[in-house]
Amino acid sequence: MNNRIKKIALEEHFMAPGFETYSKAFIQHIPKEQQEKLKMQLGDFDEIRLAEMDKNGIDYVVLSQTGPAIQAESSIQLGISRAKENNDFLAGKIAKHPTRFCGFAALPMQDPKAAADELERAVLQLGFKGALVNGHTHGTYYDDPKFDAFWERLQALDVPFYLHPIDMPALPPSFAGHPELNGATWGWGVETGTHALRLLFGGVFDRFPNLKVIVGHMGEGLPFLRWRLDSRFAAYPHGIQLAHKPSEYFGRNLIITTSGVCSHAALTGAIGEMGAQAVLFSVDYPYESSDTAAEFIETAPLDEATRALVCHGNAARILKLDSAA
Ligand code: MN
Repeated sequence: MNNRIKKIALEEHFMAPGFETYSKAFIQHIPKEQQEKLKMQLGDFDEIRLAEMDKNGIDYVVLSQTGPAIQAESSIQLGISRAKENNDFLAGKIAKHPTRFCGFAALPMQDPKAAADELERAVLQLGFKGALVNGHTHGTYYDDPKFDAFWERLQALDVPFYLHPIDMPALPPSFAGHPELNGATWGWGVETGTHALRLLFGGVFDRFPNLKVIVGHMGEGLPFLRWRLDSRFAAYPHGIQLAHKPSEYFGRNLIITTSGVCSHAALTGAIGEMGAQAVLFSVDYPYESSDTAAEFIETAPLDEATRALVCHGNAARILKLDSAA
């Protein structure tokens, strides 16, 4: 790994024992033989994961429980206790390889105050770098003012919030008869991009101007519609007033990762829209190949200063990593 550019990756998943049932909804659609390999990779924190990282020059990863995890838990009390259980489990794994792993907390968004408390515990006591939340919780979106207390705490802790995909609460008629469109292929991006826009147009970033919300999968397509959001929101404002044009929240409050989109054309377009400071390398391990992601970023048509920002500089700044890490 010595000759390869240093890389930090932020959307790298594991599965803690006892969390399998939450993920069944999507894992069941993966061919059986791949499922077995995935389960092995998700459950491993040593040989397999470290070898993949070493082979691809990935120095440091932020680990997160695979989706939908706590967001699919219907009991508020269980959501709270299982989030703690997950975060303590992860802290134990990080302690074995502290120079290679850090963590994003799982949070019980069923209860905004409990979510804020668990975030604070995870950051201040366990040393986590922020949170990764799998979208809505049973159809509740986080632009709802009842989450303001949560956003206030996140902003005070000055850590990022990774908004990760999840299934839509209900499928729109346009998806009927096309199960292949739902899930990771298309539906998750629509769902997650929409949720990010709800935060933007819902005024969350006006109320908490220092929030950093990370959206994966090359920003779930949002960077490519940035110009149009300004143009059409100006034409159809529906009485909504924002402090800035929609485009101005990109790069300031919304930042993106390259997880699961290994296209040079998409990368250069996204950097053009977001700014080089707001695009961060990630893999989406083990659902995407670390080999493919590493080769993609190493061969991308970027100047070396920009490549260094995308590969590790932006992550080090946003995660507040010591240079030793
Ligand atoms: Mn993912």
